[in-house]
Order: sequence, then C-alpha cells, then structure tokens
Amino acid sequence: MSEVQWKFEGGAFQESLPNGKTSGTLVVSPVSVKFVSEDGEVEMPVTGIQTELGGASNRMLFFKHPEQKGWTFFTTDQGILKHPVFAKDTRMAGTRSRVRRTRWLSRAVTFMFLGLFAALGLGLWWGKDPMAHAVAKRIPVEMEEKIGKAAFGSHAAANQLVKDEAVLEEFEKLSAPLIEAIGSTRYTFKFHIIEDSTLNAFALPGGTMAIHTGLLLKAGSAEEVLGVMAHELAHVEEQHSMRNLVEMVGLYAILSGLFGDVSGIAAVLVNNAPYLLSMKFSRDHEREADAVGFGYLMKANINPRGMVNFFETIQKEQAEAEGINMNGALSILSTHPATQERIDTLNALIKAKAGTGPYRKLGLDFEEFQGKLRDALNK
Ligand SMILES: [Zn+2]
Repeated sequence: MSEVQWKFEGGAFQESLPNGKTSGTLVVSPVSVKFVSEDGEVEMPVTGIQTELGGASNRMLFFKHPEQKGWTFFTTDQGILKHPVFAKDTRMAGTRSRVRRTRWLSRAVTFMFLGLFAALGLGLWWGKDPMAHAVAKRIPVEMEEKIGKAAFGSHAAANQLVKDEAVLEEFEKLSAPLIEAIGSTRYTFKFHIIEDSTLNAFALPGGTMAIHTGLLLKAGSAEEVLGVMAHELAHVEEQHSMRNLVEMVGLYAILSGLFGDVSGIAAVLVNNAPYLLSMKFSRDHEREADAVGFGYLMKANINPRGMVNFFETIQKEQAEAEGINMNGALSILSTHPATQERIDTLNALIKAKAGTGPYRKLGLDFEEFQGKLRDALNK
C-alpha cells in the first residue's frame, strides 16, 4: 500500500446501475477518490468532496461530489479517513469526530449489552426470586385470588370440605386475632378445613389456605394450630406461591411483568394455577414463612411456643410414620429445611425476642373444638 494511494472495499449508488447499486473498490489518491468496479471507473475530485456518516449504527461513510451528480460512493472502512488527504482536511474534522463518537458509542452500547446479559445470567442464577417477587407484587390482587381459587378448586373436592357451621365459626374465631394483627391491606384471608387425616396445611395465592382435619385433631393446643396458621399466612403475604408460579412461567414472564403490561402475564399464570399443587416451597421460603409467621404471633401476642410444639409433634409423627410419604408437595412437613433446624431456629428466635408473656388468653376451649370437629366428621 503506497502512502499516496490507498484502496478500500466499498460500493456505489447510482440510478443507472442494476438495483441502483454495485460493489467495488474506493481508491484514494492525493487528488481524487475513484470508484473502481467491473463496469468501469468513476472519479470524484478531493476538492469539493462531501462526506457523510450513515447506515446501521453510523458505520457507513458516504462520499458525494457536485461534479458527479447522482453518484454516491460508500465504504464501511472508516480507516479511509486516516488517509493523509482527509487527515489534513479541516472540513473532515466534523466527520472524523463523529466517527470517533460513533465508535465510542457503539463500544459503550456493546459493553452495556454485555453487562445486561451478564446481569440476566446472574439474575437467572441468584436473582430469580427477587425478580419474581417484583413481578408478583405487580399482579392485581383479584388476579391472585382467582389463581388461588382455581388451584384450590382443582385440589379439594367440595365434599372434602368441612361445612359444619359450629366448627367453622369457632375456627374463624381462632384465627381472628392473628389475621387482625397482620392487618393486611391486600388480602382477605380464608382458612378452609379439609377432611384428610394427614398432618398438613397449605397456602395458595390470594389468601386461600387450608388445614387438614388430621392436623387439627393431632394438635395439642390452639397455639399449635395458630403457629401453623401464622406460617401459612406468611406464605400468602410473602407471595411464595405467586413467586414460584412466576418463576415457572419463566424469564419472559418476569421481563414482561416487570417492564410491560401485567394483564397478559396474569392470564398465563391463571392457566398454570393447577401446577401450584405440585410445587414445593424452597428452603428459603420455608425459613422466611417461619420467621415472618413468628413475627405475626408476636404481634398478636400469641405464645410462639405453640409453633415449636407443633414442629415437635411433626417430628415425632415423622419418626413413627417412617416410610409413609409425609413430604409431598404443598406439605408443611417439607424436608427442606429439616424439621430440627426449624425447631432450633424458632427456639433461638423465642429466646431472643419472645420474653415470658403473659400471652393472649384464647377464648376457645380447644379440646371442645376438637370434639365438635370429630362429631362433624362422624355425621
Ligand atoms: Zn410452609
């Protein structure tokens, strides 16, 4: 490559060309820019030549000259501006600095995208839950209720629900102080009683929760049941099911839920509601439900030892019923985290925060309630 004549890959536009365009080489000499192609040559004098940036991300450089009307040369090789002819040309200073700016900008944009991708990757790895939570918070509560009711409907047959009015009335009285203490502005909480001998309770989106008769009859005190209720209420308030569902539906949902219209994603979530029944809460969600639930008990001035006692009952039951699957989906007996770990954590919380009472006197004879429940089941 000589100092005075450089060649650059490029092309030219002109009406008479087939498709109005052809490719070739731009040859720059001290006096002219010449376009050379199979079909011939066209030359523009350096004096009076006009340059312009354009094309995708300003990567193309165009040349025009009044003496070659209708012709436009172009190249994506911006090295052409380093040619001594242009380097010295003060009229080119604007174009040159625009090129530099464009380069800098495109580099910045590239880095930004790389950064975004890295963040998304990392997000998938450790930030999925916070993102899912941010989306869940934006879902209208009516939609969440619909999802919870749809899931509940596909789980519990109507004839499995305990409908005895006396039992339900006392059951509601039992949960009232706890629900009052939470003072949720978003949810209307509803505990159902399901006729099922397993020791279980579960929470669905929107405030729908259920406790099995097996658990109610096995519990040693009202405080134990309230401990379970507090845990389930925390699952609802913290939107654990919704977060699971959003995560399941995927990244697309997360992004459109965060940045777009949530109504579209909400419809997808409703369709997927039945999957909630086969989802387990993560270790972290269980821990959070225990800790937040403990806070509810404190707020309602309910003895939190009931919660620990219930976990101990579970532990005993697990030991006795070894081999029986007690760890199914939605199960409060989830193995993660291990029951012993949960007991230890709660005991530490009680030691640090609970004090010694006196606690709220519950206006309910629990044994009498259990008797009524037993009677209702035998009807
Ligand atoms: Zn749980």
